[in-house]
Amino acid sequence: MTFTVRATILQTPEPGQLDVREEQLIHVDSDGTISAIEPANGAPADIEFGQSHALLPGVIDTHIHAPQWPQLGTGLDLPLDKWLFEYTFPMEARCADLDFATSVWAGMVPSLLATGTTTAVYYGSVHEPATAALAQACVDHGQRAFVGRVAMDHPEGTPEWYRDRSASDAIAASAASIDEIHRIGGGPGARVQPILTPRFIPACTDALLTGMGELAEATGVLVQTHCSENDWEHNYVIDRFGCSDTEALSRFGLIRDHTVLAHGVFLGVDDRRHLIDIGAGVAHCPLSNVYFGDAVFPARQSIEMGLRVGLGTDIAGGPEASVLRNCGQAVSSARMLQDGVNPQLERDVRGRADSRIDITTAFWMATVGGAELLGIPAGLLEPGRVFDAFAVNLERFAWDDIDDWDRTFEKLVRGAGSADIEHVWVDGVSVLSNRN
Ligand SMILES: [Zn+2]
Repeated sequence: MTFTVRATILQTPEPGQLDVREEQLIHVDSDGTISAIEPANGAPADIEFGQSHALLPGVIDTHIHAPQWPQLGTGLDLPLDKWLFEYTFPMEARCADLDFATSVWAGMVPSLLATGTTTAVYYGSVHEPATAALAQACVDHGQRAFVGRVAMDHPEGTPEWYRDRSASDAIAASAASIDEIHRIGGGPGARVQPILTPRFIPACTDALLTGMGELAEATGVLVQTHCSENDWEHNYVIDRFGCSDTEALSRFGLIRDHTVLAHGVFLGVDDRRHLIDIGAGVAHCPLSNVYFGDAVFPARQSIEMGLRVGLGTDIAGGPEASVLRNCGQAVSSARMLQDGVNPQLERDVRGRADSRIDITTAFWMATVGGAELLGIPAGLLEPGRVFDAFAVNLERFAWDDIDDWDRTFEKLVRGAGSADIEHVWVDGVSVLSNRN
């Protein structure tokens, strides 16, 4: 069924640019695509928001570990390699219990929608049934999603009690999971899609990485993994293969158009150029990087080079479920990269010049950047794109005579949560409504 929405639109078509369109009439087709947007001029609409609300494109979480949802906000005292074995693999291993996993997804997916996350790119666990149930939860709650069964078989990089039994087992299970998620989601191009998910090089044998590259080539399904996340992971790959993480993944056929590489903190200039040439990009997870990254991802330099960059929460490496909060953190982290953090260093050598970003650039990563990274027609409210959007009550963010749209936008991106977000749509479908 077609419908119309009347609202003021706030969005960021380019980094550094806020586009404000007051009182627009948005026409949404029966397939969920925006067919037209025009000034409302007082015309009635099926759903009407006045000056007290704003409509924004839904945000895209390009990196999230679904089985770590119960761990959110804890376990941030260890370095990555120990954090995985001590806290995270035991939590993920519990998804062998399908009832447990299903109960986690049932709480998580609606919670994320309530923060404005209309698209999520999920790591599941190694378990096919739990991963299929995650895809089903996304279908049931109406979230756009890429869902990946995690492949991990390395005898040293994974514990004996949480790994694929062999590379061939892992490849077969990943192939079966693709078919299952296509069946659940409705096939290629549907709202819920599979994504190939070799965890990261330290958790995978050469045979598994080779097989996953071949599976990506054979199926055309997108790929996600972690890349140059921190000193340990980056140097592990150099020690094992004698080259950068990007180059190693590329040799295995895993760097492809729209491959999603989490973190990329230590990508070199040549790595970035290679990713740009192929069309792969980075899921920038600024809050997770505070705890596990050892440094700040240079978002501004990467975007200016032309690299595709989206934002991710990296639950539970990042202790915050909201992509909007990660927008604020991206701005803070970029500021710290520019200014530096060690007061023992002289000011002129303490930071990295020209690293700051503003809140519009952060929101651009969370919307347009993520959509370009994934190759989906979301991220902006304009004709031809899907109607993935959320409506925010501006009561807490707009003071008469104090706030203009720029200030209100900055406030709401930094502060809006589920209490302020009153309506969420994915693909033109209302998936959450708190309106009385
Ligand atoms: Zn991760």
